[in-house]
Amino acid sequence: MQAVNSMTENHQYHTTNITKIHRLSEDAFVFYFQKLFSFKPGEVVALTLHQQEPARLYSICSGVNESDLAILFKVKPDGFLTPRLAQKTVGDLVFMSKPFGAFYGTQNSDYWIAAGTGIAPFHSMTKSGLVQNKTLIYGGREPGSFYFHEVFKNIDGLNYIPCSSTLKQDGFYEGRLTAYLKSEPLDIRQNFFLCGSAEMVVQSRDVLIDRGVKYENIISEIYF
Ligand SMILES: Cc1cc2nc3c(=O)[nH]c(=O)nc-3n(C[C@H](O)[C@H](O)[C@H](O)COP(=O)(O)OP(=O)(O)OC[C@H]3O[C@@H](n4cnc5c(N)ncnc54)[C@H](O)[C@@H]3O)c2cc1C
Repeated sequence: MQAVNSMTENHQYHTTNITKIHRLSEDAFVFYFQKLFSFKPGEVVALTLHQQEPARLYSICSGVNESDLAILFKVKPDGFLTPRLAQKTVGDLVFMSKPFGAFYGTQNSDYWIAAGTGIAPFHSMTKSGLVQNKTLIYGGREPGSFYFHEVFKNIDGLNYIPCSSTLKQDGFYEGRLTAYLKSEPLDIRQNFFLCGSAEMVVQSRDVLIDRGVKYENIISEIYF
């Protein structure tokens, strides 16, 4: 498995301002910023409210040709950054690094596997024209945790499989994401891109390896 670890970078920060805010649910937001640099779909930025404070990393969730750069984040009530970030409004300044990373989308028939805010890089890849022939397997619990559901649901050429063990609804696989990976047909010759918490990535990786997917064909971005 190729894991992308970007935490050790020393970043130079640039000020940018918030241009738009979409509140997706009680605790999830998409913040748009003035775009200072171009980026590749799948890249992340480091973000902080004060240059002296430790930054947090966020996958860019907007498309490469959109005028603003967007991130999707969920507030961790006891977290250092997100409760304060959620209080910001349009026009406020933040410090942001140049985009960087190594979790890059391709034109191939890849599998995209995500849970929660781990959907962000796949949304960026989608909005950047890389969605054709992909299979997106997306795990969540309640309806509000399937960010961008309406976008993915309506894309021709995307095999979109939202998975939930608690939601019983048309269009949803009834069971956890890992249950889908264990029991449903997969084309194990493809590349599998995984994004989300360490727990989700490790569990999914183990299932994929059991299914016969080659270790080097599993590419992961771990949110920690
Ligand atoms: C490559 C990468 C990309 C990411 N992309 C995204 C993204 O697109 N969207 C997104 O929402 N998040 C993303 N993250 C996660 C993000 O960087 C932050 O970790 C997250 O937003 C929480 O930040 P915070 O400062 O609010 O919380 P933190 O202060 O980091 O705390 C997070 C949780 O850890 C607990 N915690 C903190 N310190 C300790 C400790 N010492 N011991 C035990 N528990 C502790 C807190 O109680 C809290 O519940 C990404 C992470 C990585 C590495």
